[in-house]
Amino acid sequence: MNKKIEMTVPLVEMDGDEMTRILWKMIKDTLLLPYVNLKTEYYDLGVKERDNTNDQVTVDSALAIKKYGVGVKCATITPNADRVVEYDLKEMWKSPNGTIRAMLDGTVFRAPIVVNTISPYVKTWKKPITIARHAYGDIYKNLEYKAEGPGKAELVFTNNEGKEVFRDCIHEFEGKGVVMTMHNVDKSIESFAKSCFNFALDKKIDLWFSSKDTISKIYDANFRQIFQTTFEKSYEDKFKEAGITYFYTLIDDVVARIVKAEGGMLWACKNYDGDVMSDLVASAFGSLAMMTSVLVSPDGYFEYEASHGTVQKHYYKHLKGAKTSTNPMATIFAWTGALRKRGELDGNSELMNFANKLETACIETIDMGIITKDLDQLSEATNKNVVNSEEWLNLTAKHLEVLLAQK
Ligand code: NAP
Ligand code: MG
Repeated sequence: MNKKIEMTVPLVEMDGDEMTRILWKMIKDTLLLPYVNLKTEYYDLGVKERDNTNDQVTVDSALAIKKYGVGVKCATITPNADRVVEYDLKEMWKSPNGTIRAMLDGTVFRAPIVVNTISPYVKTWKKPITIARHAYGDIYKNLEYKAEGPGKAELVFTNNEGKEVFRDCIHEFEGKGVVMTMHNVDKSIESFAKSCFNFALDKKIDLWFSSKDTISKIYDANFRQIFQTTFEKSYEDKFKEAGITYFYTLIDDVVARIVKAEGGMLWACKNYDGDVMSDLVASAFGSLAMMTSVLVSPDGYFEYEASHGTVQKHYYKHLKGAKTSTNPMATIFAWTGALRKRGELDGNSELMNFANKLETACIETIDMGIITKDLDQLSEATNKNVVNSEEWLNLTAKHLEVLLAQK
């Protein structure tokens, strides 16, 4: 057995709930601790500990990411009324992801994990398509009204001095109808733009940004303008140096182009477009359990996680003593993403190399046909062997040993 890889700066480790909490420990025990002297600052974001600390632990974990720069998070329960009863909670605590995102002011980037034995439904797609979704405003913070009869809807803007600076008629209703308003703020759009430019540079991939500024000549045009100004001011030279491009076009043009492209780009989307397109891209590539997700802040903090939830149904089976075949890929890739980033920031090439080899071991294990149940329908491997999570992790560890032994 070789010497374990050392770390200099700790990784912020955020534990979570249910089946993913079980997987979290199994992954550490089987694939990480035997090879790396893991240095982490541990925060338990399990719902009981959030309740005990009045959610302070979530805030503390986000502050720790600001201090150290990189975090890795397990899936967590966002309590609803049922969960308040199930876990005897004091309150319906807010989504930890929401709290962390608000504190880091980040954008979430999601990309599929591509393996040879699972073909995307779109046959030209060879490389992963990463989606960045702006997570503020638009219809998610809208104001809506149902007109029950004739009348006039107006848009009014009053400035802080109390002066009405804008008033215009939205529509004069002759009968029943609906009306909606929405907004966004330059500060949020700008940090979204910066996060996207930083991510594209980090991964050395092209950036596409889409909106509908031919129709929305002020609202969407504002998005386009902020992206363009930010690009020219701070990123144009860096993009040139990295050999990548920034490309703006209409959303319908991207949709038409993307199904003929080979993938490999970052597609930055406005809030609603990102909501819809990330689900489309995820399912066209295969499965939610095969997606990576990272929150990137405009200040350069990174938080890696799985994009799926706590896999509640599997957990209840686990509690009854059954072995489940839950797919640990997304959670493992959260760890490898975080370890590689830590390695990159600390100049620790051994750690980066380990993260790469672990990813290769996982992908090759799946390509050998050793899979969890969720991939049974998707995998085109010739000798399929559906195993439980524990068996999958053990077999992957065996393959990792082989890869690590190679020079
Ligand atoms: P979920 O945990 O994503 O699971 C939904 C279904 O998807 C599962 O029942 C399972 O299908 C399949 N699935 C998801 N991940 C899988 C994996 N790794 N391996 C195999 N199958 C997988 O969503 P949910 O059940 O709606 O939510 C459960 C809890 O997660 C909720 O309390 C929610 O608040 C939380 N949540 C957290 C996050 C986060 O922290 N990022 C995100 C979403 C949801 P089958 O049952 O058919 O096998
Ligand atoms: Mg959606």
